[in-house]
Amino acid sequence: MTDVFKNFVGGEWVESSGGATFESVNPANTSDVVGTFQRSNKSDVVSAIDAANAAFFGWSRTPAPARADIILRVALLLEERKEEFAQLETREMGKVLQEGRGDVQEGIDMAKYIAGEGRRMFGETVPSELRNKFAALIRQPIGVVGLITPWNFPIAIPTWKLFPALVCGNTVVFKPAEDTPACATRLVELFEEAGLPPGVLNLVTGFGAEAGQPIVEDERVRMISFTGSGEVGREVAARAGRSLKKCMLELGGKNAMIVMDDANLDLALEGALWGAFGTTGQRCTATSRIIVHEAVLEEFTQRLLQKAQALKVGPGVDPDVDMGPVINEQQLTTIHEYTQVGEAEGAKLLLGGHRLTGGEYDQGFFYAPTVFGDVNYRMRIAQEEIFGPTVAIMPVSSYGEAVKVANSTEYGLSSAIYTQDINLAFQAVQDLEAGITYVNAPTIGAEIQLPFGGVKGTGNGHREAGTSAVREFSEMKSVYVDYSGKLQRAQIDVE
Ligand code: NAD
Repeated sequence: MTDVFKNFVGGEWVESSGGATFESVNPANTSDVVGTFQRSNKSDVVSAIDAANAAFFGWSRTPAPARADIILRVALLLEERKEEFAQLETREMGKVLQEGRGDVQEGIDMAKYIAGEGRRMFGETVPSELRNKFAALIRQPIGVVGLITPWNFPIAIPTWKLFPALVCGNTVVFKPAEDTPACATRLVELFEEAGLPPGVLNLVTGFGAEAGQPIVEDERVRMISFTGSGEVGREVAARAGRSLKKCMLELGGKNAMIVMDDANLDLALEGALWGAFGTTGQRCTATSRIIVHEAVLEEFTQRLLQKAQALKVGPGVDPDVDMGPVINEQQLTTIHEYTQVGEAEGAKLLLGGHRLTGGEYDQGFFYAPTVFGDVNYRMRIAQEEIFGPTVAIMPVSSYGEAVKVANSTEYGLSSAIYTQDINLAFQAVQDLEAGITYVNAPTIGAEIQLPFGGVKGTGNGHREAGTSAVREFSEMKSVYVDYSGKLQRAQIDVE
């Protein structure tokens, strides 16, 4: 018997009205069932929205510093139970324990940062063109917001959305990924423990079309914050557009690292290894293309192959393991199909390119670290997000060519350049079409106090975290207070 987890609606833990459930399994060992979860349907979603709607008045009128106090309590609980959450994350999502701890830490950082916003949430005051008139901009809650998240950062990504949404006075319906419902449920339990009033945060677990889409379609939900694939994101945006709701999309990436001829190669190699194979390549910011200057191509490639070959792949709980499993069978199939596509397109498979089998590998979804050489920017493996431990090495002969190749995809999330030339580094900051640029660091490793998001096909112009967080999850209201005691007409009665 596995534990049965429920939805959280109106402050109560409830079963789906349809009675259907699904299981979440450990991707490193599929016989280990993490739990049984509610397979929610439209009527469950409607109940959750009813609850969020009913709670909105009280929560939106609660002073922001009081809302923030609850968020800080969640931060402290999460900090206290960091190891327990990290272990759960490794069990349910597969990432190595050290990264699981990092993911939980990101949630703690976000909570602390956002708790401070409860006493800031700055507006603006501006001078009026008229005498005895006050003009200001204030922030107000949006209403009920729907949060839909992926599985690759099962604690951090929900916290990027939950904490700012709540501090701004919104109420929430949260639909986590079907692969990581246990992490989401445990996180929601912390809010209950911290004293969040009933109905302010509601959790519905289940699948995208059944439990996600009804949130997007309900007119009472005034904002959707979605992180996931470009394909689903486009669907979500189209549906959200019908009821004119605000729609924040954080989608895929095809992130490039440029290694120039003057790069510190030791540093670049370490960065490449971490960027490409960290989280088994299942990061939206994963380094999936390494654009290497031809002068250092041979040395860089040989040394990368040696390092990648030496990576120990296995269950993330093992402290000696460098790279865990991929999330599920379907993802494994997709990754392998891209290996075949790469070979068919004429790229050189230099390492890996196969599922790992035998012994404990047979219990889960393991794929070998995979490196392609001689990759051309037109190839599909250089254009499409693979979301696995596959990296493409792309030779170039100049900085100009490197930038052209880097910018040649539909995505624009993260980017990196390794060079010792300060002028080139700043040029790259200017030239790379991405929401994030790293100099002498890999494409992964964002900190929560700066905005996070991308350009082009990675999103639709929104940013999470940092100073954007409050901006995104609040409405602006312009306020004029005329204390002259007479009618003053803007643009007309000016002196
Ligand atoms: P996905 O798009 O398959 O699913 C994301 C979420 O959307 C899940 O909760 C899913 O149930 C839900 N969903 C699916 N269909 C839906 C529908 N019709 N209506 C509403 N919701 C629906 O993505 P995934 O496989 O979980 O995550 C991997 C993707 O996420 C990658 O493309 C990755 O790059 C992206 N990602 C982006 C960022 C970022 O900040 N830019 C961060 C992490 C992951």
